[in-house]
Amino acid sequence: MPSARPVTTLHAQLRWSLEQAVRTDPGTYALILRCPADRCVKVGRLGKLVLRKGYYTYVGSAFGPGGVARRVRRHCRLEKRMHWHIDYVRPAMTVIEAWYTHDLDPREHQWARTLSRSARFDASVNRFGSSDCDCTSHLFHSPYRPDLSAFRHELDASLMGSRNIDYWRP
Ligand SMILES: [Zn+2]
Repeated sequence: MPSARPVTTLHAQLRWSLEQAVRTDPGTYALILRCPADRCVKVGRLGKLVLRKGYYTYVGSAFGPGGVARRVRRHCRLEKRMHWHIDYVRPAMTVIEAWYTHDLDPREHQWARTLSRSARFDASVNRFGSSDCDCTSHLFHSPYRPDLSAFRHELDASLMGSRNIDYWRP
């Protein structure tokens, strides 16, 4: 049920919108970011990274307290302690969408593999977000806005299943 309290700040608005749409259950998500221009950003131990104009898709999972809703809200917030690779590049970009599933099987590496093979994505940022796994990356660039139905088709084609994937837009 929509709340009647006034929504004043951007943060409150995001929080409200997320609470309405995304459950606090655990799951896997892809964060879609728009990069308005070429940028150079220093990313922790990865060093300097050139971000290209266009779109970036970052894949992660949230199996801790607060689940997907809390994690996506964290990505939307700018004031925070830098923890993950994504935290360093996030301020250079705008969050435009999040795809997510509350499937209890972690899907992030499958999703990352699917994106790394997709012809719609022209580059991946080597070892980004994948220090603890075998994926080449968890961050992918595309010149055009990523499309959820195309992603669903690609998951189906690789027999990974695309049911129960939903989206949220700020
Ligand atoms: Zn991975």
